[in-house]
Amino acid sequence: MVTKTENLRKPEWLKIKLNTNENYTNLKKMMREKQLHTVCEEAKCPNIHECWAIRRTATFMILGSICTRACRFCAVQTGVPTELDWREPERVADSVVQMNLKHVVITAVARDDLKDGGAGVFAETVRAVRRKSPFTSIEVLPSDMGGIYEHLKTLMDARPDILNHNIETVRRLSDQVRARAKYERSLEFLRRAKEMHPDIPTKSSIMIGLGEEKEEIIEAMDDLRANQVNIITIGQYLQPSKRHLSVMKYWTPAEFNELKEIALSKGFDHCESGPLVRSSYHADEQVNSEKVQPRG
Ligand code: SF4
Repeated sequence: MVTKTENLRKPEWLKIKLNTNENYTNLKKMMREKQLHTVCEEAKCPNIHECWAIRRTATFMILGSICTRACRFCAVQTGVPTELDWREPERVADSVVQMNLKHVVITAVARDDLKDGGAGVFAETVRAVRRKSPFTSIEVLPSDMGGIYEHLKTLMDARPDILNHNIETVRRLSDQVRARAKYERSLEFLRRAKEMHPDIPTKSSIMIGLGEEKEEIIEAMDDLRANQVNIITIGQYLQPSKRHLSVMKYWTPAEFNELKEIALSKGFDHCESGPLVRSSYHADEQVNSEKVQPRG
């Protein structure tokens, strides 16, 4: 275990291999040409070189690049968004076709400024991808949409293949780490999604290294299972800038393995757990574990 000291140094296992091959540059070019955003870039994901250059996967971030919330762990820009582009769903769908994706993850900034929380564009993006690429499985990763379940229903009725919503951290730290979002509300969001469409698997993610204890992580697993969540991902929190929360501990790869074993013993169908794991990391493999068939 590496715990917080004066100068907490990044351990060896978090060193990233850079790879800016042709796949990487082509994807970057395509995103600019189609005026699309990805969480890979906006959230400074440490896996971008692996995902873009080697796996050729990306997580689309729709509804603009400015978020109405200011979570203390997240590098996405905060402010007053101006974009609402009803042509965005088609551009995302065209990119999915161009990238020949078997699985796509679509997330969005929180749009608390919009009447429908962005659910209309989100649902239309699911439908556009389904139309243009019927064999691609679709995972959506929305915010809690302000806990307005009509908005969630709009999205669920578009029938994504996986509903992913992150609790982000353990119960005790939730109010310090997330802005506006509430731990209990996120659990309810996941439960309601399952009630609306019991056949659609649900998924959630936590970042660790923010000062939580192992028992609290296990409590979060129990809370998710109590709300019928099928898939969990666990990754190391990394501080995106000095303005963001400090890393309190670097959990070791062995500890991540142990957490994976615990998660599986709790009844999750799939657990991705490791220092560089992110909510959408290796998401295509989790689809296989859920035997998801695209609903085209
Ligand atoms: S893990 Fe997800 S967010 Fe990170 S680079 Fe890969 S696809 Fe993008």
